Amino acid sequence: MVLELLKISKKFRINKDTFFEALKDITLGFNKGEFISILGPSGCGKSTLLNIIAGLDKPSSGELIINKQSSAKYKQKQWDFYRKNNVGIVFQQFNLIEHLNALENVELSMTLVGLNKKKRKKRAYDLLAQVGISKEHALHLPSELSGGQKQRVAIARALANDPDIILADEPTGALDTKTGLLIMELLKEIAQDKLIIMVTHNHKLAYEYGTSLIKMLDGEIQSIEKLKDYDINNSSTLLKKKDAKMPFKDALKLSLRNMKKKFGRVFITALAGAIGISGITLVMGLSNGANSFINEQITRFGTSNVISIDKNVKEDNKLKAVEDINEFAFLKKNQEVLSIRKQLPNNGSWLIKDTSIDTQQNALAPTKNLAFIKPYLNGRLPKNNSNEVLVNKAMARKIIKLLNYQDDDYQSVLNNKIVLDYNSLKLPISEDFKIVGIIDELDVDAPYLYYDYEGMKSFLNKTKLGTSSLLSLLDQKGKFEFIIKDAHHLLSIKDWVLKENNQSQNNMLSSFMGNQEGVNISSFALIFQQSLQMIINIVQLVMIAFLVLALVVSSILIAIVLFASVLERKVEIGIIKAIGGRKKDIMRVFNAEAILIGLFSGLLGIMLAFILAPLGEIIVTKVSGYNFSNTIKIPLEGMININGSAYHIPFLQIIVLLLISIGVAFIAGYLPSRQATKMPVIDALRDE
Ligand code: ADP
Ligand code: MG
Repeated sequence: MVLELLKISKKFRINKDTFFEALKDITLGFNKGEFISILGPSGCGKSTLLNIIAGLDKPSSGELIINKQSSAKYKQKQWDFYRKNNVGIVFQQFNLIEHLNALENVELSMTLVGLNKKKRKKRAYDLLAQVGISKEHALHLPSELSGGQKQRVAIARALANDPDIILADEPTGALDTKTGLLIMELLKEIAQDKLIIMVTHNHKLAYEYGTSLIKMLDGEIQSIEKLKDYDINNSSTLLKKKDAKMPFKDALKLSLRNMKKKFGRVFITALAGAIGISGITLVMGLSNGANSFINEQITRFGTSNVISIDKNVKEDNKLKAVEDINEFAFLKKNQEVLSIRKQLPNNGSWLIKDTSIDTQQNALAPTKNLAFIKPYLNGRLPKNNSNEVLVNKAMARKIIKLLNYQDDDYQSVLNNKIVLDYNSLKLPISEDFKIVGIIDELDVDAPYLYYDYEGMKSFLNKTKLGTSSLLSLLDQKGKFEFIIKDAHHLLSIKDWVLKENNQSQNNMLSSFMGNQEGVNISSFALIFQQSLQMIINIVQLVMIAFLVLALVVSSILIAIVLFASVLERKVEIGIIKAIGGRKKDIMRVFNAEAILIGLFSGLLGIMLAFILAPLGEIIVTKVSGYNFSNTIKIPLEGMININGSAYHIPFLQIIVLLLISIGVAFIAGYLPSRQATKMPVIDALRDE
């Protein structure tokens, strides 16, 4: 026998110590090929019996013998497997999932055993054809099908995993007589090689189709009647198939369908989360934008954009430091070996020596970093890696005087050369630096000469003093200054100087710096930038704290919506369980829903941020009086940059925010998902 019931009893607890005995000592045995009709009045325990056979409910005592093996020691996993693969159920109320079409309803059970999509589809179409549902109707939603058609679909679903046992609980109860007969014919056909157990209170059908008839009353078997012969076929595949779980993709699909139906509610929930996410995006974007803005403003000041490197002298080392500076004195001479080479029209030149030219300060910068000077420039910038220099106006004045040009003839200063001459240092090197531009800058503290960094470096390398002799450009106080075009680079240049200092142990730099003493690097711009940034960071933190609160509120909302969803999807949960879904599968469906809400919420929030950003810009523009442009630009570096504006939203932040949104929803969905798995399956289906 394929299935035996041994002294099965079922007691339901009514209250604290009252029980109701729905089944009393039921012992039965069934073969494959049998068509069992169970007849009895309402409330006699028929459905309870079927639920126990189906593995949906456990008996209070007694046991189920499945394929000659006791199920007494079955673990949850084995029961799940049994339900999924060995039993198919057909209900009075069809219990199709409303938001899936006929085909997908049939596919769902196969999804639970992990059959691939192509095979699944083909088999679902075949099964539907077998029960008389056309290809066209296969794509209809249950609500678009007649009762008879729905029951056919339900039968196809019950057959999906080729079970040995089909349980039918009043399968014709909701159908008219004619349709009911067609369904019975269908079941009879199936019964050729399966065990069919059908509950009914229709005497006529019970007698006509059953091979045996079991009459029940008040939870007991009244009589068992053999009606017809049948071919025993006990070749069982019970519990022999392979196990699998619902792929996450399918859980997502299921949830997506469900959410589509309740779009309004999902939208409002997502909007709550979206406000938090968009707020965070905007605050972060604004603070990024503010940082860029500050840097731009600092850059605009140009010469205040200076990093000064000072010797960091400890008290007890002061003496030594002074010695170092004395040793260093010869390098200062280089300031006196400047002369001017006057450019003649025929390309020749005169050297005009005049040690009175005192270039108090020099600036070194990679040419591209000099670009900021452009608006203040006569002539042009030095070419990269060239012996070209800029002079400031004060220097230009001196040259005008020296070369007897007319008072304001700055143009003539261009193309003359400044000669750096190391002959006086007993190094046979001198080099011309061509003046290509004049900076309109009279500030006495400003550098007189602006060298291209690379050009100067290669010159100093020729002097065999190496890069460390960049320090030859130190002024008397031992100061060494960089002008940096873009305030963004202040920090990285500071790092570079520190690194250079650490690496050059035995060169001039370290001898000047006094080895262990290190350097003191200061920059007005850097201090300004860092202190402003700190303020921005604090404001940002406070705002984000508020917005995190908004996210907490939204997660509570998501939890509530999911609890509602669990209640609404009771039937669906019941169906998934009835066709073999495990707790994990059901968790998955609701986790998927939570994740979808989170993703939707995050995307909505980011979209909202982009819509609100230009509005914010207008406000910022009004308040600050600065004019920001409104163009949204997505450069290839992966930065979403509302260009030149107060908003600057890096791509990575968006990804992180999306993940946060999904994470929050997932956590919010945990309890409702758990709730769903705990829902007793019988209640879930009885609710209909
Ligand atoms: P039938 O399907 O034969 O109409 P059922 O098997 O549904 O009857 O129910 C048998 C009896 O058990 C009924 O009296 C019903 O009220 C009771 N019953 C069923 N399920 C429960 C339950 N979960 N808790 C308490 N009583 C139940
Ligand atoms: Mg019933």
